[in-house]
Amino acid sequence: MENSYECPRKPNKDVSLQELRDRLAEFAEARGWDQYHSPRNLLLALVGEVGELSEIFQWKGEVARGLPNWTSADKEHLEEELSDVLLYLVRLADVCGLDLGQAALTKIVKNSRKYPVNK
Ligand SMILES: [Mg+2]
Repeated sequence: MENSYECPRKPNKDVSLQELRDRLAEFAEARGWDQYHSPRNLLLALVGEVGELSEIFQWKGEVARGLPNWTSADKEHLEEELSDVLLYLVRLADVCGLDLGQAALTKIVKNSRKYPVNK
């Protein structure tokens, strides 16, 4: 049994993109999946997961922040699909050799210049 992939919920633990990247790399390596993880394949998988995420909201109309009327099962499903999207995004950035965390911080700075507070 591989305990390195088990991760019981620890609500206060900050999870870094680096940790996700490394665990995904280990996961793929251990299964011989690196050969399938080309940038294109990962992008298509990411788009598929965005579709699964969209299905959760499809036909629901506007949804209140905090999802007050959702069941815990609905929220768990949402967590799973959000995670699938995040994990493919992190993996895609990794196989492209990009530092996603740094790139995202840089993009926030660029956005703040593009959309200054006083406009
Ligand atoms: Mg999924």
